[in-house]
Amino acid sequence: MRRDLRLHDHPALGAASETGRVLPVFVLDPVLLESAGAPRVAFLYRTLRALDEDLRRRGGRLALCAGRPEEVVPRLVAEVGASAVHISEDFGPYGKKRDRTVEMALGRVPLVRTGSPYAVSPKELRASTGTAFRVFSAFARAWAERALPAPCEPEPAKWAALPSWCTTVDSLPPEPALPRGMVLPLAGEAAGLAAWEDFRSSRLASYEDRRDRVDLAGTSRLSVYIKWGSLHARTLLASLGPADKRFRQELAWREFYASVLDYWPESARQVLQPRAAGWRWDNDEELWQAWAEGQTGYPLVDAAMRQLLAQGWVHNRARMVTASFLVNDLHLDWRRGARHFMRYLVDGDLASNQHGWQWVAGTGTDPAPYPRIFNPVAQARRFDPEGAYVRRWVPELAQLYPPAIFEPWRLPAGPPAGYPAPVVDHSLERLEALRRRVAHS
Ligand SMILES: Cc1cc2nc3c(=O)[nH]c(=O)nc-3n(C[C@H](O)[C@H](O)[C@H](O)COP(=O)(O)OP(=O)(O)OC[C@H]3O[C@@H](n4cnc5c(N)ncnc54)[C@H](O)[C@@H]3O)c2cc1C
Repeated sequence: MRRDLRLHDHPALGAASETGRVLPVFVLDPVLLESAGAPRVAFLYRTLRALDEDLRRRGGRLALCAGRPEEVVPRLVAEVGASAVHISEDFGPYGKKRDRTVEMALGRVPLVRTGSPYAVSPKELRASTGTAFRVFSAFARAWAERALPAPCEPEPAKWAALPSWCTTVDSLPPEPALPRGMVLPLAGEAAGLAAWEDFRSSRLASYEDRRDRVDLAGTSRLSVYIKWGSLHARTLLASLGPADKRFRQELAWREFYASVLDYWPESARQVLQPRAAGWRWDNDEELWQAWAEGQTGYPLVDAAMRQLLAQGWVHNRARMVTASFLVNDLHLDWRRGARHFMRYLVDGDLASNQHGWQWVAGTGTDPAPYPRIFNPVAQARRFDPEGAYVRRWVPELAQLYPPAIFEPWRLPAGPPAGYPAPVVDHSLERLEALRRRVAHS
């Protein structure tokens, strides 16, 4: 089990169960653990504990192995005499390579791929050119025709007894220290299903109207569960109705980016748009620090960056505004911002994150011929109209209300004590960003 840490609606588990007794295994792969930030590792450990609890209630246990998958999986297979290894197919650049290596190391024992973390397999949909779709709207049309699979609910598995020498979640390493004060959501499948039920019954109907407001709890906050597969998109899609078009479309964005990354794996690190290859980025350490610490003097940007450090989650609109600020106002490389996000996001997902960043930077899948430069003040007025989001995350501005909270530097005495003046002038940097695009394209 990897990014499919649940027991319901699990095609790979269903396929394994059909052939006999099942020993669920999770490999603590040092390559992945080293690159994941503390919040994601801590949430993973909690998810594994919850999964083990769920298994125990059904008479099973989760076997936990630490080491390189191509070494520990064949060893375990030999020791328990397994006839096959079942997985949900992985489409990330590392995951695909790892699975091929494990497959070779397994020799005659088959590695059976059934299902994936997506409702539609990323390699299933192709544009007329034969490549993956590069434009979301065309992908979404093709995806909508296929994304109707029924949830998979096979007979309950018969669990194999855990061999006495096998380690379990009881030997998980201590959780890495979280950034000070960070609070993570409850982990595991039951928590994910409860969060989905809560959203479905109380907020799904108003999702389209409220999803862009950073001050409201208008979105599902299911990304952390979807990331580790505690919930599968298929489970959610199966209970959506015709009125839930917008929510379905957001799930499609995730699948779109997975398909782009599957086809162009190098786009995890390199720009997707050839015209953007020559764009130049600055390297100003002070500006970087101001952004990363939420000290830019632009309240919406600072609120977003502080929410990231406090919760490991940020509202989508706020992610776009703060990413645009790094790229277009500070002229810093999107890859640096993407790395920072991956370090702190609990839902950090290579495809959605790198391509979310590339979309905002104008280096990726956005087909717009003009750069989308978000105005952090106009965005705050529109999507945080009372300033409540900023007041929550930027305590120095807790006494301010509109319009002062949008531009505290315009107060007669300047910004309140402890809050910085803007580190750059948005209107000037916007022009500079446009100049650079023309000069370097
Ligand atoms: C710069 C940037 C970085 C991002 N990094 C990530 C990331 O690392 N992991 C991640 O899951 N999402 C990422 N997103 C997408 C999006 O911001 C989050 O999925 C969303 O905010 C999660 O909150 P939610 O579950 O309440 O979303 P909801 O609005 O409730 O959406 C439901 C689900 O749809 C999917 N989804 C929604 N919007 C997007 C989107 N634009 N792209 C891809 N999937 C989407 C998610 O799985 C989400 O949980 C990023 C967006 C940007 C602009």
